[in-house]
Amino acid sequence: MSLDAVLARIDKDLPEALDRLMALLRIPSISTDPAYRGDCAKAADWLVEDLKSLGFDAASRPTPGHPMVVAHGGAGGRHLLFYGHYDVQPVDPLELWARDPFDPAIEETAKGKVIRARGSSDDKGQLMTFLEACRAWKAVHGSLPCKLTIFLEGEEESGSPSLIPFMQENAGELRADLALICDTGLFEDAVPAITTMLRGLCKAEFTVRAASRDLHSGMYGGLARNPIHVLTRLLSGLHDAEGRVQVPGFYDDVAELPDALRQQWQALAFDHAKYLGDVGLSLPAGEVDRTPLEMIWSRPTAEVNGIWGGYTGAGFKTVLPSEAHAKVSFRLVSRQDPEKVLKSFRKWAEAQIPADCEIIWHDGIEGSPASVMEIGDPAFEAARQALTDEWGRAAAFVGSGGSIPIAGYFKTVLGMDAMLIGFGRDDDQIHSPNEKYDLDCFHKGIRSWARVLARLA
Ligand SMILES: [Zn+2]
Repeated sequence: MSLDAVLARIDKDLPEALDRLMALLRIPSISTDPAYRGDCAKAADWLVEDLKSLGFDAASRPTPGHPMVVAHGGAGGRHLLFYGHYDVQPVDPLELWARDPFDPAIEETAKGKVIRARGSSDDKGQLMTFLEACRAWKAVHGSLPCKLTIFLEGEEESGSPSLIPFMQENAGELRADLALICDTGLFEDAVPAITTMLRGLCKAEFTVRAASRDLHSGMYGGLARNPIHVLTRLLSGLHDAEGRVQVPGFYDDVAELPDALRQQWQALAFDHAKYLGDVGLSLPAGEVDRTPLEMIWSRPTAEVNGIWGGYTGAGFKTVLPSEAHAKVSFRLVSRQDPEKVLKSFRKWAEAQIPADCEIIWHDGIEGSPASVMEIGDPAFEAARQALTDEWGRAAAFVGSGGSIPIAGYFKTVLGMDAMLIGFGRDDDQIHSPNEKYDLDCFHKGIRSWARVLARLA
């Protein structure tokens, strides 16, 4: 069978694939530091040459920052776009590295062989899993599996300033049927996962103002309104005793989890005791009728991130402050609209402010909605099957409590869904000293993409 031949080719070619990854890892493409500008261009050029060797029409495309690598190849079938990033995080503190971060090596560890170098996991090792799958496919079949666009960024670790303008200017060229992104990890280090829900975010910063100046608590205490009391009463009313957010309409656009997903998440047997135990906690503190995974993946939140006011310096000052301040943020899910949520929150807060007090809002009404992929598209189930076949464990559609901006941009700028599939592990130490990528993640990652391509093409 043709897929078997591709997988056999991947196994046989692994030493050469590692040599290629090592060559890319030796280029110190640190995007945030201008001293490495030339190295970023070099990494882009290296990838262009590698893609050309696979038959892609590839080019390093200038931006005001570091270049984008864009390549087109293959024909027919579903048009897939693959995204990865070739830039890496800075390496300091250098003295904490056991070896030169840009002198990669295979190391034997208690948990198996690892590829040790900056960028080995985030994201050079991961992006090369896809390119190596394409290489094996080409070697066996003589052509790429379908119409493919490769889109590699060099500014992901420094805020992606050129990304949206580049996507907008080249929308026609970049638009495909589906985007594939390799920059995430396995669930609990073992279960292959496709991230299909990413929470959005919106924020509010405000001041509660009472008297026109700070007051002496002997002269005014008991008579004058204390804005810290007003603020804390307001914030303590944000949730009821069961953990539900009390802002009217907050849950209006929150969809219930489909049964199929609920079952997948149950099967993941998430060890929330360990997850919380790692940070010195033990009990889930969200909505009482929700599972821990729902709390972090599929339910919205309201969190007080900061609160200040009055005298907080050394010693004591018996002041009755004139102002109290807070920062509140909301993680959003489903179809929740950041603007609608913030407007409802403002209205809810203002309705509770007593006479003689006012709320001053410090920022505009904006934010980003959640990204929810159309898992009803058969491509998602096909990819899930492909991953299950490779890893021998039922792959799952998972959520992400935080946001991965690129996935949202593919949707908002190019109108296409993204499938986030990655093979990193929690102990990869990305962004930290001694970053590594497990050799078996690299190897099985390549094999995973071959299987995904076989099913999606
Ligand atoms: Zn990354």
